[in-house]
Amino acid sequence: MINKMKVFSTITKQSLKKSFNSILSATLLILVSSNSIVAVADGLKTDNAKPATSTIKLSDLDWKKKLTPAQYQVLRGKGTETPYSGKYNDFYAKGTYKCAACGNTLFSSVTKYDAHEGWPSFYAPVAPSAVLKLSDNSLMMMPRTEVECSKCGSHLGHVFDDGPKPTGLRYCINSVCLNFDAAPAK
Ligand SMILES: [Zn+2]
Repeated sequence: MINKMKVFSTITKQSLKKSFNSILSATLLILVSSNSIVAVADGLKTDNAKPATSTIKLSDLDWKKKLTPAQYQVLRGKGTETPYSGKYNDFYAKGTYKCAACGNTLFSSVTKYDAHEGWPSFYAPVAPSAVLKLSDNSLMMMPRTEVECSKCGSHLGHVFDDGPKPTGLRYCINSVCLNFDAAPAK
């Protein structure tokens, strides 16, 4: 009888352990799945519906005075620098990248990678609030998502969904819109 009880007790313990592991696996799966959904849903989600958060407002003439012609053309004119021409395309020092128009901290060297596209590429900004993502339909047949500095509203580049993990995003940014700072992000 004692032996039977012992066997039954062992089986019960094993069953409970198995059930617990199953529940744990299922819970983890749900957590992982829901995180992926959030990440994907937030990926190229644009900020068009959000109210303008730009805190720096200068007249066009003031921007012209403040920026070099090349900076003005891209930052304020939504231009694009020639691929492989920018000073940060093939540049991998540790530090942070700030908006060349207003100094807002935008990207960290930690998320910079070589996308072989000819422009500096990052898989994430330093904080979601550092940039604005806006629908850009300026190219016929190719809707894109424009990236702007959230502090001054200057154009920085575009974001695509063919980037590496963990975000799967590629922030394709013009070098001329950035100023590198060797100090790490605060
Ligand atoms: Zn800015």
